[in-house]
Amino acid sequence: MILILFGPPGAGKGTQSQFLQREFGFVHLSTGDMLRQAVKDKTPLGQKAESIMAAGKLVDDETMLGIIKEKLQSMDDKNIILDGFPRTMKQATGLAEMLAAMNKKIDRVIELRVDDAALVTRLENRIKNSGAAVRADDTPETLMKRLKIYHADTAPLIPFYQASGLLVSLDGMQPLAQVSQAIKQDIEKLLR
Ligand code: AMP
Repeated sequence: MILILFGPPGAGKGTQSQFLQREFGFVHLSTGDMLRQAVKDKTPLGQKAESIMAAGKLVDDETMLGIIKEKLQSMDDKNIILDGFPRTMKQATGLAEMLAAMNKKIDRVIELRVDDAALVTRLENRIKNSGAAVRADDTPETLMKRLKIYHADTAPLIPFYQASGLLVSLDGMQPLAQVSQAIKQDIEKLLR
């Protein structure tokens, strides 16, 4: 099964992915995590991505499609969560083509809906609790930029996936455990 977790930065995609990993044994593929690892390892990809990420911008579609293709090809029939991918229409259509060629398909797209003001408050609380920004792109200024890009480039995927009947939209403003339960119920329906 291939599940896409969809939503703005800070909506809780990573946390819910971990929940799904524990609960159902999903493999969590986060393009953000892959890029951060590449930055840490100072690979050519990391060197290219570092300043783009710090500025809250998007790494180019071709690079991202290449990364995902390599991963998916090596994963066979595992249950997979895509977190942070696709993020543009080009990535979404590229993913669809790639999966068709591999005889695979997307089973579900779960959107976590959280409004911008709540995301800013969440980040401010995180910074308050930890004393400083945890990551270079985890500042209120960068979050604003990332949200702008999310609304311009990523949010148009919502009607795209809705039209194909794959989208389930959940209220991501609820407490974490409630969001987890809502996701769990949906996945159980799919597995039945
Ligand atoms: P994330 O952890 O998913 O919020 O990603 C952190 C950063 O990595 C993003 O702000 C982008 O700079 C980059 N990134 C992650 N996934 C993608 C993607 N699918 N397309 C382009 N850039 C991405």
